Amino acid sequence: MKKIDFHTHSHYSDGTSRPEDLARRAEKAGLELLILTDHDTVAGFPELLEAAKLHQVSVACGIEINTADSGVHILGYGLKWDSPLLMETLSDFRARRRLRVEKMLEKLRSLGFPIDFEDVGQVSKESLGRPHIADALVKKGLLKSRQEAFDRLLSGGKPGYVESLGPSPKEAIELIRSFGGFASLAHPHIIKKSEKIPEWIEWGLEGLEGYYADLNHPQKWRNLAQEKNLLLTGGSDFHGPGSGRDKVFGVEIPDEVYQEFLKRLEACPHGIYRA
Ligand code: AMP
Ligand code: ZN
Ligand code: FE
Ligand code: FE
Repeated sequence: MKKIDFHTHSHYSDGTSRPEDLARRAEKAGLELLILTDHDTVAGFPELLEAAKLHQVSVACGIEINTADSGVHILGYGLKWDSPLLMETLSDFRARRRLRVEKMLEKLRSLGFPIDFEDVGQVSKESLGRPHIADALVKKGLLKSRQEAFDRLLSGGKPGYVESLGPSPKEAIELIRSFGGFASLAHPHIIKKSEKIPEWIEWGLEGLEGYYADLNHPQKWRNLAQEKNLLLTGGSDFHGPGSGRDKVFGVEIPDEVYQEFLKRLEACPHGIYRA
């Protein structure tokens, strides 16, 4: 088995750790490979790359794109993270995130939670999301934790929720491919429409996160990956201390799964940066 993490977040999106904290953590955990997959941004990668040299960890650039289909998050690996055109597109995605946050804040105010964009807008380095609304509610003393905010207000179906304004799964997959990367379906147990997976494969989906930290029915997903000839990817979805997603960092995957992933990553122009 190999210990790796292909799904982590920093404070460039809704994590609480700096990229260098992740590198340090990866060194301590003895990870074979660490990939940063912030939401709709690659801006944390240069910092990770610097820190990785210091801490002797191998790293790659990734991304997580939350699509307009509820729960369908597409991970992208090995994309040309220094492309200005990619950054421009991602900046549009982030503008849509801000708009959604503003709509949710309007709802929250009408529910009696006095909270403005200024309370939320300063916290993330790049990419805003629901966890930042949760943090602002906690900071104002209106709620106790991110978890409480999601449970009472921010999860799908709760009174503060607004649907994602993100791209379609097709757009997300095509974007990743057009910038030299490959796409994997994150935490597949969360999605509601798994019958759509064959359609996404037609559009270029190449992997499935069959080694997610708290994946339900892992064998079912690993079998599906084999049946559909998909790569298996693995990750913890670590969001840093205090985030509510900080229990696990690093997951174990079989050697052959690791080798397959590495082969695909090395075929990308901006693939792996070895320690
Ligand atoms: P958004 O991108 O704004 O839709 O927010 C999605 C993010 O919220 C996920 O990536 C998680 O970081 C976080 N999240 C989702 N559900 C929960 C929850 N129940 N508790 C804490 N964080 C959550
Ligand atoms: Zn997140
Ligand atoms: Fe996700
Ligand atoms: Fe994630």
